[in-house]
Amino acid sequence: MLLENKIAIVTGGTRGIGHAIALRFAREGCHVAFCGRSQSHEMEQVEQELCALGVKAKGYAVDVAEYQSAQQFVADVVKDFGRIDILVNNAGITDDVAVKRMTQEQFERVVATNLGSVFCMTKAVQPLMWKQGFGSIVNIGSVVGIAGNYNQANYAASKAGIIGFSKSCAKEFAARNIRVNVVAPGFVETEMTSQMPPELKATWCQRIPMKRPATADEVALACVFLASDMSTYITSHVMPVCGGMEDA
Ligand code: NDP
Repeated sequence: MLLENKIAIVTGGTRGIGHAIALRFAREGCHVAFCGRSQSHEMEQVEQELCALGVKAKGYAVDVAEYQSAQQFVADVVKDFGRIDILVNNAGITDDVAVKRMTQEQFERVVATNLGSVFCMTKAVQPLMWKQGFGSIVNIGSVVGIAGNYNQANYAASKAGIIGFSKSCAKEFAARNIRVNVVAPGFVETEMTSQMPPELKATWCQRIPMKRPATADEVALACVFLASDMSTYITSHVMPVCGGMEDA
């Protein structure tokens, strides 16, 4: 197993891509702490599903875009699990609208959640990883952070910011054997994209050489690789998982 007895935090693990990552990690023998903003039935179900695979797993209700909450979350995970080897910053939101109509609140909320949470969680785990002399941080970006997109300037800015932040951290942390990489999915079939009108979905699929969306599990497999000892010399990398979209 690729992640046997490692300990990971996956933010936003209650559904969608985060859930797929938590599940794949557990199948690879990893103990998993995950979170959503509130305690929910979904969270309990994921916890049970992971534990049934024979690993330790626990869901936490935490807003990872809140600095103090992120600090407390990491302290709680260390208390419950003992250490942290892997951090996957997956939690994210969208609030799509053209720039002409976008409010400051819509811009700031998306950037604070998507990029702010990566900062808060990285700040919280960095001292631990620094001290232990190893760690892998995988940040979930998006091809939209590379290419931009209509009605997603707030989201694209947050995801482009994740790339710059990750590459900077990769440089600062490399000497302590802490790797920082980005997985940049294209179009993935999840709850986040289920709200899209069918015509828009069809247009997206036409732009994808593989002519289909990714499954959440296909994104999770890229995360397993970057989190595992299969990639010990890979840092500062942006890995698109996008079916070959040209502008990614
Ligand atoms: P979902 O909306 O399905 O899931 C988002 C998850 O993040 C939920 O578990 C949610 O839990 C959690 N979350 C959101 N905000 C916070 C917060 N502030 N604190 C803690 N948890 C939070 O999204 P996806 O699975 O589709 O997306 C996951 C990631 O992948 C995101 O970063 C997204 O930008 C990225 N991505 C997705 C693509 C897609 O096509 N779906 C394409 C490219 C990138 P709760 O609601 O309980 O807080």
